[in-house]
Amino acid sequence: MIQLPEKFLQRMQQRLGDRYPAFLASYKRPPLKGLRVNPLKLTAEEFAALAPFPLGERVAWEKTAFYITEEKPGGDVCHFAGLYYLQEPSAMCAAPLLGAEAGERVLDLCAAPGGKTSQLAAAMRGEGILISNEIDFGRAKVLSQNVERMGIPNCAVVSASPETLSARFPGFFDKILVDAPCSGEGMFKKEPNAIPEWSEENVARCAVRQSGILDEAAKMLRGGGKLVYSTCTFSEEEDEWQIEAFLRRHPEFSLRSMHKLYPHEVRGEGHFAALLEKEEGESCAARPFRIQKNAAAERAFCGFAEEFFVEPPRTEGRIHTLADGRMYLVPDGMPELNVRLLRLGVELGEWDGKNFKPAHALAMAFGTLAKKKISLSREEAKTYLRGETLTCDGESGWVAVCVDGFPLGLGKASGGILKNHYPKGLRLRQ
Ligand code: SAM
Repeated sequence: MIQLPEKFLQRMQQRLGDRYPAFLASYKRPPLKGLRVNPLKLTAEEFAALAPFPLGERVAWEKTAFYITEEKPGGDVCHFAGLYYLQEPSAMCAAPLLGAEAGERVLDLCAAPGGKTSQLAAAMRGEGILISNEIDFGRAKVLSQNVERMGIPNCAVVSASPETLSARFPGFFDKILVDAPCSGEGMFKKEPNAIPEWSEENVARCAVRQSGILDEAAKMLRGGGKLVYSTCTFSEEEDEWQIEAFLRRHPEFSLRSMHKLYPHEVRGEGHFAALLEKEEGESCAARPFRIQKNAAAERAFCGFAEEFFVEPPRTEGRIHTLADGRMYLVPDGMPELNVRLLRLGVELGEWDGKNFKPAHALAMAFGTLAKKKISLSREEAKTYLRGETLTCDGESGWVAVCVDGFPLGLGKASGGILKNHYPKGLRLRQ
């Protein structure tokens, strides 16, 4: 069994009383792992029919998720196709509590690596505005890659402090998720490196940081809006007492529900989530995003889309073209952001003044609608993911390279050869 900090154990014993032995015994079982199917691409039933490894029981609080025991589920080609996201099962409880819906303005304030962002996106069915923020730029890059892999069309990935965002977006969001940085007591099994980091002082420091983040989130919520606060820790300072203190500072909020998932009571490693609601009041508009139009670039994209897709995505008034020719499909209702931006809706591709070159993100978001598809076996798919060239039949031009009908990326066919356009930074190592 892993060695846990003595002081942590004492605190847990004090808190849990006669439930403590069961809590301690939970550390004897291996960490529970979960897989959440991506409903933007397929249903849980469809995934179960093609799953490359055995799926266990469903996770009770997330209808598209299964327990798994597979050793390396991230290495399968279906993962590269964005068919699922790997997430600790109890961590799946927070995002559904927010009840995000299609068409809403939603902020995920502490979002990397993107587990809960992808859950929110699924609930929104790709419609509305999802702003996913991560303060740490390196982690924001991973978040951005996951948003691309999952094919999320309505998300802007940004990297800013909560203070910067609250100055831009007062009273703007319908729903906000604060999955706060915490002392990670529920992660000790999955990430034993977190154990030596633990101390009572660190718990206190986390609590101070969390209350600051919550205060900024409160400013950004519209009247009548909802806020979910969650952590993967057990300390009351960061959980129940954090909520009590927030409600004292913000009488305009009320607590709707609070959930503490302990590893000896549910099948998960532990999580805390509270749903808060702001009293009715104002909802503030933000300046709309200024689309930069380029008629020639748009014509080139539309020509490509007519040929490439069975049904091209809806683009009227939504194509934003930068001076360097990069083109984006901006979600309806996107506000002006004016913060460090890593991803804006779906990157469509690049226009060099003569030719249009489609982007990987286009294939991941809309590639299932491609009429030009090449289907690879799992072995061939690994060859493609390593960036190697493949042979192919059929006409020349851009194709969606698929496994089980789901795009992994793009290729360009010519003279029986499929030139590999899988992004270099994402390629499988040998
Ligand atoms: N929601 C993520 C998911 O489901 O994949 C996990 C988020 S993790 C628990 C908390 C995140 O908050 C970290 O990525 C961390 O970098 C970020 N963070 C750290 N300090 C922060 C701060 N002062 N304000 C906002 N976010 C912060």
